Amino acid sequence: MSTFSDFIEMVLNKGIKIVPMDEASKILISIKKLTENINFACDFKNGVCRQVRAVPDLFINGCCCGDCKNKIGYLHTIYFENLKEYVSKWDYKDGFFEVGKGCRLSIELRSGMCLGQRCNYERWTPFENEFLNLLQKL
Ligand code: SF4
Ligand code: SF4
Repeated sequence: MSTFSDFIEMVLNKGIKIVPMDEASKILISIKKLTENINFACDFKNGVCRQVRAVPDLFINGCCCGDCKNKIGYLHTIYFENLKEYVSKWDYKDGFFEVGKGCRLSIELRSGMCLGQRCNYERWTPFENEFLNLLQKL
C-alpha cells in the first residue's frame, strides 16, 4: 500500500497528469463504461487467465497486467477527484493488480489502454476491434 504523497510523487515522476474532472472527462468515462457490455473471455481460473494457461512462457508475471506496477496502470491522466481511490488501490509490488483476483480498479478508473486490451484477435468483430483500438488511443 502507499501513502498519498509517495503516490503523487511517483505518478508525477512518470509524467502522468493530475487534472480536475471536466465535461470532456465525463464523456470519456461514459465511453469507457461501454466496455461493460463486452465479453473479453479472459476466463480466469485460480488467478490465471486463458492466454497465460495456453502460452505461459510469453508472460513474465501473468497476463497483460503483469507490468502494471511499472506502467502505473498505463495511465496518462488521473482526475484529482479520483486520486484517493487510486492511492487506496495501489500496491508497490503488483500495482493495481491483485494476484489471483485481477484488477482492483473499477472500469471508470482504468486506462483506455487497459480497457482495450484483448487476446485472440480472430474472435472480435471488426466493429469491436475498431472501438477497442480507439479506446487505447484515448
Ligand atoms: S487492468 Fe488493472 S491491473 Fe491490469 S494493467 Fe490495467 S490497471 Fe493494472
Ligand atoms: S486480455 Fe489479458 S487477461 Fe485477458 S486473456 Fe488476454 S492476456 Fe489474459
